[in-house]
Amino acid sequence: FSILFTAIYIDALDELFEFPKIITIVIEDIFQIIGLLMIVYGITLWLKKQETQKNALVKLATTDPLTGAYTRRFFTDKVKEILQSEKPRFCILLFDIDHFKKINDQYGHNVGDLALVQFSALMEKSLRESDLFARWGGEAFILLLPHIALSSATEKAEQLRQKLADTVIQLPDASFTMTVSIGVVEFNPVTPKLETLIDIADQRLYKAKQQGRNQVVSS
Ligand code: GH3
Ligand code: MG
Repeated sequence: FSILFTAIYIDALDELFEFPKIITIVIEDIFQIIGLLMIVYGITLWLKKQETQKNALVKLATTDPLTGAYTRRFFTDKVKEILQSEKPRFCILLFDIDHFKKINDQYGHNVGDLALVQFSALMEKSLRESDLFARWGGEAFILLLPHIALSSATEKAEQLRQKLADTVIQLPDASFTMTVSIGVVEFNPVTPKLETLIDIADQRLYKAKQQGRNQVVSS
């Protein structure tokens, strides 16, 4: 803007005083071109920065800062959107890590945090682009599997359970294995409310815990 302003200022003075040709060419013409180019460049940079800031804000509002998984709020909003579509079809998996308190007690809270990060990363690696994985709270997570029937969702849950059980969590100060219990529920037009579906998944998760943990319950 300063360069452009200088060019315009000299142009105005040029009407009153006769400047040498060289000044008119260099300061008026060249400065005008450079000034305009720099303004265009500046606006482009500004727009890019706005976009980056917007993305950072969206990420901050929709993801859990520890694990990077989506937040409970984002998850429920998305499922409510799907519930309003014409023929919703999906399953929900509710996860709860088994005896997680023991990991905290044995290795400390920081190791517990890192274990949650590794758990999330391990689950996310096995998901499709359309699946939605979120932190439900504490050491409980939730997964939405769109366009899938109960039998396939149960199979998927079983794969995820097995994968975690087979993985050694390697951390700088500790190495251990973890297991997870999972309750699975399928959307059903008879129970179209998200709260009811979650309730059913929760009852199944409770059953999995009661039956000895490290298992999937879908009925
Ligand atoms: P269960 O198999 O019945 O689920 O047993 P559990 O020990 O996993 O369940 P419980 O509810 O007794 O304990 C959950 C523990 O998870 C207690 C809580 O301090 C811990 N926890 C919850 N959120 C976090 C977190 O963000 N970081 C860490 N390190 N620990 C957490
Ligand atoms: Mg637990």
